[in-house]
Amino acid sequence: MYAPGDVRVDHTDRPTVVEPTDAIIKLTASCICGSDLWPYRGADQVEHQPMGHEYVGIVDEVGSGVQTVKVGDFVVGSFFASDNTCEICQAGYQTHCVHRQPGALPGAQADFARIPLADGTLVATPGLPDDDLIPSLLAASDVLGTGWFAAVAAEAGPGRTVAVVGDGAVGLLGVLAAKQLGAERIIAMSRHADRQALARKFGATDIVTERGDAGVAKIRELTGGLGAHSTIEAVGTQESMMQAIGATRAGGHVGYVGVSHDVQLPGEQLFFSGVHLHGGPAPVRRFLPELIQLIWDREIDPGQVFDLTLPIEQAAEGYQAMDERRAIKVLLTL
Ligand SMILES: [Zn+2]
Repeated sequence: MYAPGDVRVDHTDRPTVVEPTDAIIKLTASCICGSDLWPYRGADQVEHQPMGHEYVGIVDEVGSGVQTVKVGDFVVGSFFASDNTCEICQAGYQTHCVHRQPGALPGAQADFARIPLADGTLVATPGLPDDDLIPSLLAASDVLGTGWFAAVAAEAGPGRTVAVVGDGAVGLLGVLAAKQLGAERIIAMSRHADRQALARKFGATDIVTERGDAGVAKIRELTGGLGAHSTIEAVGTQESMMQAIGATRAGGHVGYVGVSHDVQLPGEQLFFSGVHLHGGPAPVRRFLPELIQLIWDREIDPGQVFDLTLPIEQAAEGYQAMDERRAIKVLLTL
């Protein structure tokens, strides 16, 4: 991304092993993230930045210290590299690893990427996947893992009513996660017919089209005036965060994973809400073994969030389609 709104495809040298703990992977597919739209829209600084942090692929080369993956393995990683051994990693918070680094260098919208801390970061699949599993495995790398963490952080589960703020790929996969975790009722907040349809396919039982205070009122109305037990916040704006807190009953949980942009929590409202807030950059690595198995066994099909596939040469069109909300999520073929 040369500048906001200016995406170009360039040729660069293949990355090489720098540290003995690095692996080089040849990507099988790549994709554009909703969070890539923040710099695209000028909300984040960007200048000549290699893009992409979601990846699946085949290990092409490993450093001398890499032990758990080998050349030829098909692997899935996540957007932060982690050692998976420090106390923070062991507690399941690999995105806050004391050795945390970007997950794919220089960027994963490319044919090749360097993955630091390969032993801790990468998880090999049981074998080479069938082609139709690739989109779902790619989704596990970020959007599925992030939606899953949001559902876990919101304590979605049996007997719970879960509200989902945000109908991007993460919100939709938060619906899928809540369903898998056994939620009784799942209320998706969306104004778009195609996204509502996918939310229902993933397990949503109710759709709320209102947003802001009206959205909160609607959730309260649907839950006997109490609010949801569990709310997933998958946008990151002031409105969406306040909508999530307002939609949650006292004692309930908000799992927030939308990258925060200028969110200011009013102390008094927070104090009197009585809700738990937990979130941040999702520790996708914690969930990868379980998610890969669910995909491998065809129990879940999160790859359905990819509704536009383009060759990477047309990445600029992919950004534009997501920016204009013509596409939920764009898969880039290599
Ligand atoms: Zn760690």
